Amino acid sequence: MLTLEDFNLALESLELENKPAIAHASLKTFGTIQGGAETVLKALVEHVNGLLMPAFTYKTMIFPEVGPPNNGLTYGKQRDLNLMAQPFRYNMPVDSTIGTLAETLRQYPGAMRTAHPILSFAGHNLDEALMTQTIYNPFAPIRWLPDHDGWVLLLGVNHTVNTSIHYAEKLAGRHQFVRWALTPNRVIECPGFPGCSDGFEAIRPDLKAVTHRVELGDSFIEAIPIDPMLQVVEARIKKNPLALLCQRDECERCDAVRSSV
Ligand SMILES: [Zn+2]
Repeated sequence: MLTLEDFNLALESLELENKPAIAHASLKTFGTIQGGAETVLKALVEHVNGLLMPAFTYKTMIFPEVGPPNNGLTYGKQRDLNLMAQPFRYNMPVDSTIGTLAETLRQYPGAMRTAHPILSFAGHNLDEALMTQTIYNPFAPIRWLPDHDGWVLLLGVNHTVNTSIHYAEKLAGRHQFVRWALTPNRVIECPGFPGCSDGFEAIRPDLKAVTHRVELGDSFIEAIPIDPMLQVVEARIKKNPLALLCQRDECERCDAVRSSV
């Protein structure tokens, strides 16, 4: 069983130098953790100067019958999904696919959550970054991190959940999408919605030289400095506009990116 001390020692070895970080985690990969997600969060907030995590709420999404072209979806096919859409509420739990650590952070004493109806972020001691988010610039809190020598932390997960790569895609000029969210009063149009991340792990070799890694329990923690990471991803997409797309047969968002270049 892993303890708070185990996480503290592992994070110490990564030499994060008390800088801010965006984290992504699959805690079940570590095996049993004494105290669960709260233990991991306690260790994280001690070792970074501000912690950010996605607190996305995909169940607010609603789809029109018609909309902009090349938008990575087939209009009219989402009627069943629309019936299950739930209006965004500020206290809505983080989508279960994002994991328990983000939901625990959202509820952590002193934590703040932004109000984007699909792509909200939760943060601790990071209000300045969180407040930069707008409906037009959903990844602005990530934009804040390189100016403050921030890190990307991957706890038992790979780059397919590394949200910051989406920000680099935008920097490289990659096609973005429009989605819509249900709120208690109206439907809100949300531009700047990212593409598919299933092909992101292909960036791993390019980041090897800057990645710090420690093994822990049955899993690992990786720390990647976000500024060079964004530069590496942006350069790779500019060199090859099809880089980091997935190879699935019917991926509507990757297909839309292909037809946009
Ligand atoms: Zn894809």
